[in-house]
Amino acid sequence: MTQFVRKLDHMGRVVLPAEYRKKTGIDDLAEVRITEKDGKIIIEKLSPCCKICGAEEKLNKEMEVCEDCIAKVKAL
Ligand SMILES: [Zn+2]
Repeated sequence: MTQFVRKLDHMGRVVLPAEYRKKTGIDDLAEVRITEKDGKIIIEKLSPCCKICGAEEKLNKEMEVCEDCIAKVKAL
């Protein structure tokens, strides 16, 4: 496994190695999910999800809202 050493800047930013971005499909300007587990920071490519409830299923990609939420809004 290749390892990279990076220094954070004064705002806590770090550049992700291009090799890892390419391997994980994290393109420039991609949205990522950042979580912490057991003292490690995990950065994952964010899958498209509903802007209201976060569901990844039954997503209307044009509206970025799931069919269930569309139905709930229509019922209001
Ligand atoms: Zn939804």
